[in-house]
Amino acid sequence: MGEVNLEHVTKRYQDVTAVDDMNLEIEDGEFVTLVGPSGCGKSTTLETIAGLTKPTEGKITIAGREVTNLPPKDRGIAMVFQNIALFPHMDVYDNISFGLRLRDYDKDEIDRRVDKAADIVQLEGMLDRMPDEMSGGQRQRVAIARAIVREPEVFLMDEPLANLDAKLRVHMRTELQRLHKELDATIVYVTHDQAEAMTMSSRIAVINKGELQQFAPPLECYNAPANLFVAGFIGSPSMNLIEGTVDESGLDLTDYHIDFDPGQLDGVGPGDHVTLGVRPEDVYLVEDADKVAHPSGRIDAQTDVLEPMGDEIFVYLLTGEQEMAGGGMDAEAGDAHQLLMSVDPDKELEVDSDVEVVLDSENVHLFDTGTGEAITHDLRFAATETEPTGTEAEGDD
Ligand code: ADP
Repeated sequence: MGEVNLEHVTKRYQDVTAVDDMNLEIEDGEFVTLVGPSGCGKSTTLETIAGLTKPTEGKITIAGREVTNLPPKDRGIAMVFQNIALFPHMDVYDNISFGLRLRDYDKDEIDRRVDKAADIVQLEGMLDRMPDEMSGGQRQRVAIARAIVREPEVFLMDEPLANLDAKLRVHMRTELQRLHKELDATIVYVTHDQAEAMTMSSRIAVINKGELQQFAPPLECYNAPANLFVAGFIGSPSMNLIEGTVDESGLDLTDYHIDFDPGQLDGVGPGDHVTLGVRPEDVYLVEDADKVAHPSGRIDAQTDVLEPMGDEIFVYLLTGEQEMAGGGMDAEAGDAHQLLMSVDPDKELEVDSDVEVVLDSENVHLFDTGTGEAITHDLRFAATETEPTGTEAEGDD
């Protein structure tokens, strides 16, 4: 069926390596999203699967068959692009059936496929409309129906929602999930929008500079990002990332100290440069510390900016020099560092006030600042043990 495998796929354009040694094993029926910033190599990766671009190195198989050197039409795929290229002088029926008519399918078979596709994308009753009589979302559904009638094993979609307005994009996300369920086909989808990737996919492939960073279910990328890039890219607003240095009793983050026993983390010792990562929802006001099973020590901070979102308030906190300056509108930001916290919408907070916050140690991540690789996603065990003197250590001195 529709498995897609990329083995060591590399694509170079002169001195640009658009895709760098990409390995992906996509299972039959999966909805996999390639996500990453603009220019990271998502489209090129998809184009190598489609056969629109030939990889410089590597091998691609679709449904167990090597397709590396096959033309697109022989790969069992259908593509949907960002630009919805419908023929303006043809009605919906003719647009959807165009490819089938070119291939001389018989009329009954074409009708059967068009009716079924129109039903799936909910365009029944609109088959005689012209493209200029349709909304952007409807036109995109025609483009998807045109892919469906090919009955491919794999759908390849490159930012198909990018040209739609924000509300329609959110609506089409649910439509695409329904479509995936009904078609029971493999979908490989490209987007730069991490929210789209998070909501629709069975797994997401996070790409940066042509290299695969993590290939995992969305929540795994969110809860256990493999490295600093994934930590910063997945999640909106982004995870707080704060650089520091490990010392004998934990982590020195310049403005405050997070206590834990570094001896409990493999390969980490005093002097190591690490980056602490904590999501805004894992930062709590001290008064709410009882909601957290394993809070860190307290951190002094000052509220800087409040953003009420309706269902939560984003609170931009400053730690360090700012709060030492005594607060107030005229306080110098100095060397202050920002820490973003999310609190319940009913919290009454004032700008420029002193607060104490704690971190939920179970959701504190540490990364090696040099390599960017994750060290741990849970500091709980270490943070709560204030005097971890081991009995075996006795007698050493
Ligand atoms: P994305 O889809 O993530 O935005 P692309 O796959 O389009 O990224 O591009 C990845 C990199 O390859 C970019 O640096 C881009 O400029 C480069 N690139 C893509 N296509 C070509 C091409 N035909 N010729 C030269 N460079 C290209």
